[in-house]
Amino acid sequence: MSKFIRKKIAFVLTGMLLAIVLISCEAVPVAEAPSPEVTFTNVSSSPVASPDGELSASPAQLPKLPYDYAALGKAIDAETMKLHHDGHHASYVNNLNDALKEEPDLQTSSVEALLRDLNNVPENIRTKVRNNGGGHLNHTIFWQIMSPDGGGEPTDEIAAEINETFGSFDQFKEQFNQAGGDRFGSGWVWLVRNPAGELQIVTTANQDNPIMDGAYPIMGNDVWEHAYYLRYRNRRGEYLTNWWNVVNWPEINKRSLASMQSGN
Ligand code: MN
Repeated sequence: MSKFIRKKIAFVLTGMLLAIVLISCEAVPVAEAPSPEVTFTNVSSSPVASPDGELSASPAQLPKLPYDYAALGKAIDAETMKLHHDGHHASYVNNLNDALKEEPDLQTSSVEALLRDLNNVPENIRTKVRNNGGGHLNHTIFWQIMSPDGGGEPTDEIAAEINETFGSFDQFKEQFNQAGGDRFGSGWVWLVRNPAGELQIVTTANQDNPIMDGAYPIMGNDVWEHAYYLRYRNRRGEYLTNWWNVVNWPEINKRSLASMQSGN
């Protein structure tokens, strides 16, 4: 073999080696592991139904109560809880699925996305999606922000921010209860993070959710009569007062943190 050919072979081999090294160094794209829970795409801001994920609409499903019907007895009786979850919340879920049954494209949106952009929903089903999508979202939040171990003073970051914004926890409770009591007819009273990033108490009518106004719902109380009528009759104020005995501060802290990362 001539010196020239040996040089040429060495050159080609070196080139091949270099190519192999370069190829093996290139980042290999790894498919993201699919989450078994989350079944939708295009989540542009923090999930609202739970800090863990948005609500699927393909189809919408009734979440399990995270405790027994009787577990919130410090504020709400077992019979009311059963009717509220198995009856009212279940119908919002069924009615939402019924509204979306001819709309496969909308079913790929999360419930939150539908509510943020109701103009994208055909007019003939818009009110049904608003009321029942809102009902599904509101109640999903509601069950999580209550707990049998709840009540007492707020904890962690939300405690400090409540004091800063409202003066004290007592003043916050008073304003929240006042707003809930003044909400005419059926609706909700909320602590939200408004688009300016501040804590604010707001109320919504019917099953509207604060995300429809660009705010992130941190906690909310249901002031529809179906939430308290069996035990409290027409005494909404007494229900509002007792409700603080089951408020789940650790979950509310999680939601407050999510609200700060939210583009809502
Ligand atoms: Mn309700």
